[in-house]
Amino acid sequence: MIREHRLAVDQGLAPEFFASQNFGGSLKPEFLVMHYTAGGSAQGAIAWLCNPASKASAHVVIGRDGSVTQLVPFNRQAWHAGRSRWQGRNGLNKCSIGIELDNAGLLNGGPGKWRTDWDTVVRDEDVAELPHKFDGIVRGWHAYTPGQLAAAQAVAAVIVAEYGIVDVIGHDDIAPGRKTDPGPAFPMAVFRAAVLERAEAARSLAPG
Ligand SMILES: [Zn+2]
Repeated sequence: MIREHRLAVDQGLAPEFFASQNFGGSLKPEFLVMHYTAGGSAQGAIAWLCNPASKASAHVVIGRDGSVTQLVPFNRQAWHAGRSRWQGRNGLNKCSIGIELDNAGLLNGGPGKWRTDWDTVVRDEDVAELPHKFDGIVRGWHAYTPGQLAAAQAVAAVIVAEYGIVDVIGHDDIAPGRKTDPGPAFPMAVFRAAVLERAEAARSLAPG
């Protein structure tokens, strides 16, 4: 549930709100954009996205444990998309809500020796070896956790239902060649279908 453009405590969701000052003018969202943080922790991402020096933010950050933190109200433009284009629109911050997932992104090394860009070890079971749609080359990507994906799906469905969002897309869709997130480890097709279906069901149950 959303009240006054903030996620409310509801149905297993216990969102926290950290007010980031990194936001712009009013927003009427049409799209939901999924990202990964390319960082080491949700706490670190939240601190960075609340730091004026970053000139970046997102509406929501979802930790690997499924924790949900909202940084910017949904009726304000967060700074997550950057230079971007989708369906004839330029600068998707003006018409989208952004969700960041705590995830290290593209990894270095190989089986038994996967590392993040900042040289932290990643266990083989936390790695998805998959091709990115841009180049088809199989690389190691940090896997998302089931709890994180479940929380993201719940939050996304609530947002899509509340604002009549028309589509769920990736940062790589709107900034191809510049951005690779949320990357091939994110199950976009399944996620998108589930979110749109859940939002539709929620809308049909809503009074009025
Ligand atoms: Zn991104």
